[in-house]
Amino acid sequence: MKKLLRYLASLVAVIIVLAIWVWNSNTGQDWLLEKAVNTAFNRPLTIDKYDGLKVFLCGTSSPIPAPNRAQTCVAVLAGESLYLVDAGAGSAQVAAIGRLPLERLEAVFLTHFHSDHIAALPEFNLNSWVAGRPEPLLIFGPAGVSEVVDGLNNAYRLDLTYRVAHHGEKLLPPGLGVMQARLMQPGSVLSRGDLTITSFLVNHDPVRPAVGYRFDYRGRSVVISGDAIITPGLIKAAMEADLMLQDSLSLPIIKSLEKASAGSRMEKILIDIQDYHAHTSDLSALVDQTGVRQLALYHLVPPPQNALFEKIFSRDLPAGTVLTQDGMIFELPAESEDIVRIDP
Ligand SMILES: [Zn+2]
Ligand SMILES: [Zn+2]
Repeated sequence: MKKLLRYLASLVAVIIVLAIWVWNSNTGQDWLLEKAVNTAFNRPLTIDKYDGLKVFLCGTSSPIPAPNRAQTCVAVLAGESLYLVDAGAGSAQVAAIGRLPLERLEAVFLTHFHSDHIAALPEFNLNSWVAGRPEPLLIFGPAGVSEVVDGLNNAYRLDLTYRVAHHGEKLLPPGLGVMQARLMQPGSVLSRGDLTITSFLVNHDPVRPAVGYRFDYRGRSVVISGDAIITPGLIKAAMEADLMLQDSLSLPIIKSLEKASAGSRMEKILIDIQDYHAHTSDLSALVDQTGVRQLALYHLVPPPQNALFEKIFSRDLPAGTVLTQDGMIFELPAESEDIVRIDP
């Protein structure tokens, strides 16, 4: 028995010495690096071809900054095709870390042109171009979309020329690096195979026009409100949807921030924003009137940063409402009633 213990003790000592050598020597570090890099490169895609609709939250914050949250961005995978609704700051990193199949990114749908919805467009354009997207990236949106897209293409024209000069036209065909604007009037419908995408007008005054989008695919539906208060138009668009992602503001939290900032420049802004986002207290009526099966809140104003804030944010919400986080996934299998949530 003693002999066995002595043997085990020396084995542990040898393992410790070996581990210290690997950690501290160049050869050992290179061996670890190779293993780590291979694992990282061969990681499976977070969302891949799917028989149904799959939704990945690449940004759940509003302009009020929060750690671990990018600004608004929702990725929707329908079959093999990937789409985005909005592209706020930081969301391209969340998408990259989440290993979205950006070579299959077909289009971005913009709800409106506030900065927290468009800042990452150039990064998504670059990342999907580098990933091998075979067609130019289409940017759909209401009136104003051409001005935004032309301006961004202009601002990033030199960047494009450097990339092509460095990596060659074969890897990075220049024509695929230029985004193309597509006007999509509120109320219009786009069909792509089994998928239909409907744009609907929302109220985010004084931002006009502002729209939301509804995705319908093989018996499943996802509605993304964009920044919007509850109006009859939003209710009509969300009728009987499986999943609804809704912009939402917690009045108790914003009121307390308003009070704390009394007399400062922030006070006015905190008052102004109260009238153009849906209040959490209005969302029970939304669910009652639409029959939405799963309500999930995003574009959180402000993003709750601890358990207390989450508790207050959740006041008055219908039972089962989800406060989304970056990296959260919803799966809606085709021709089914299942809604599967995968937490990050
Ligand atoms: Zn916004
Ligand atoms: Zn907005």
